[in-house]
Amino acid sequence: MRSRQLWVLVAFVLLIGFVGMAVSSRGPLGRRAKAVAMPEIVEHVEKGEVASVSFRGPEVIVTLKDGTQKSASGPEDPEFYIRYFTDKGVVPSFDRSNSRWMPVVGMLLPVVVIIVMMTMMMRQMQQGNGRAMSFGKSRAKLAADSGRKVTFDDVAGCEEAKEELQEIILFLKEPSRFTRLGGRIPKGVLLMGSPGSGKTLLARAVAGEAGVPFFALSGSEFVEMFVGVGASRVRDLFEQAKRQSPCIIFIDEIDAIGRHRGGFPGGGQEERDQTLNQLLVEMDGFDTSETIILVAATNRPDVLDPALLRPGRFDRRVVVPSPDLRGRLGILQVHARRSPLSPKVDLERIARGTPGFSGADLENLINEAALLAARKGQAQLEQDDLEQAKDKVAMGAERRSMVLSEEQRRLVAYHETGHALVARIIPESDPVNKITIVPRGRALGVTQYLPSEDRVTTRTRLVAMLAHMLGGRAAEEVAFGEISTGAYDDIKKATQLARAMVCDYGMSRLGVVSLGEVSESPFLGGPARSRDFSEATAERVDGEVNALLDEAYRHACQILRENRHVLDRVAQVLLEKETLDGPDFEALVEANNPVVPRVA
Ligand code: ADP
Ligand code: ZN
Repeated sequence: MRSRQLWVLVAFVLLIGFVGMAVSSRGPLGRRAKAVAMPEIVEHVEKGEVASVSFRGPEVIVTLKDGTQKSASGPEDPEFYIRYFTDKGVVPSFDRSNSRWMPVVGMLLPVVVIIVMMTMMMRQMQQGNGRAMSFGKSRAKLAADSGRKVTFDDVAGCEEAKEELQEIILFLKEPSRFTRLGGRIPKGVLLMGSPGSGKTLLARAVAGEAGVPFFALSGSEFVEMFVGVGASRVRDLFEQAKRQSPCIIFIDEIDAIGRHRGGFPGGGQEERDQTLNQLLVEMDGFDTSETIILVAATNRPDVLDPALLRPGRFDRRVVVPSPDLRGRLGILQVHARRSPLSPKVDLERIARGTPGFSGADLENLINEAALLAARKGQAQLEQDDLEQAKDKVAMGAERRSMVLSEEQRRLVAYHETGHALVARIIPESDPVNKITIVPRGRALGVTQYLPSEDRVTTRTRLVAMLAHMLGGRAAEEVAFGEISTGAYDDIKKATQLARAMVCDYGMSRLGVVSLGEVSESPFLGGPARSRDFSEATAERVDGEVNALLDEAYRHACQILRENRHVLDRVAQVLLEKETLDGPDFEALVEANNPVVPRVA
């Protein structure tokens, strides 16, 4: 934004300069000029060959970039031409030696300057909003050969999705063979997945693999201010695509146009309906001789209009999942190709420590690590760069400038050590990857684990998890006899988990039963659990949740009491070093003879 404003300013200064020059210009103009007709001059302007224009008396004189001059006499409508030249970026000058033009010019020039300025500013604003001046024109970007071709090698961690898309590639490559085999001709593919999971990348890779052009457009760009614009954009887009067939049309965020029709009245609803209808018409309209595949992406398939999902439209749905451990490793490897890695780097460890990261997050991680390494003047990325980059992507930049009192640092150190130590002592816990008391984002300290990502887990492991989640609070109580607000988030998460154990997993005395459904409420924000059970059951649920949490908390306290010597030692080292990685922590605990209490 700042640079745009700068441009406007520069343009303004230039204009003032030109005006000044224009008023004072009395060069030896026009003596060598060849007389031509006005259209010829316009042609030069259109070709961008004109260096300057001057009005003198009844004459227009242009100087071309190669130095030749041409003149035309007496245009009928001088105002028009003054505007025209100014619009084209050739601000005319006015030779005062003959003053026939001057009254007009004197009045007109400020007006023209203001109009041009306003046009420029509007254009800037509209670009800022993702809207263009060419209202009806589709701004589909042809991304076929721009830059490097993307292939399936660049996409990791979604093998099933790739598998399903193979058929589309085959069709785009050799439509005839496809029909001969009796396959139903695909038309639309809906990629479903959360942001950054690689949907755009996949669509691009399909185009790359098939060697066809790729038109990309975002659904939100369709939703215009004026009714009818979106629809005409759709029409235009399909026209463009038909000329380039076989090809892929990619519509990102299709939910922006494809929401249920007739939902909320007003608020651009009518416009969206028209756009959606046009899209449906076009999809039904192109026949299979035109080898066009529509690929759309969304992270909200639930809100899509059913009409979009009918056979012959987006009838193929491909889930682009958030990457699992293997997927994350693959994605890291893909992006690490560009950066030299130290042989000591263990990408698998990074992959393990990044559950919940999207493909885009992982790409970001590698970029950040490369930046860090570059800043330190290293030739290669080290493990430490990757670890730091991971934390930065996950939790925001470190806030080393945040000053905590010595007392607060001690509290945080004990709190984090509490988490880590409880996790270390309970055999079913995930291993500790790192403990730190460097503030980051909103957290004052962090304990990270290397979670295994098994699809199913056991009650024993969930109970262990509850205990180390509450280990921070337990450490505060054991060490200081005083508790803090620092455990706010731990308690919230532990309660959620305990509630899920009771209501979803049937892991309490209430028995094997599912109670209520957690739904993502679109209006109130955040998940909410529906109540499809009685008041009496609700009370029993609360009782069971409390029992699970109490039990876990007591277990954590017991572990920390019996290992008070280890707790003190680790917390002290943490205060000195601020960060302990997994092996350091393990060595430290081992060296201090930890006690594994018998569970009561
Ligand atoms: P989406 O369209 O689902 O929001 P993108 O395709 O725009 O996500 O992903 C953003 C970037 O993240 C990609 O350009 C790519 O660099 C990286 N990325 C995401 N998923 C993957 C993946 N599976 N493999 C490799 N890189 C990925
Ligand atoms: Zn905590």
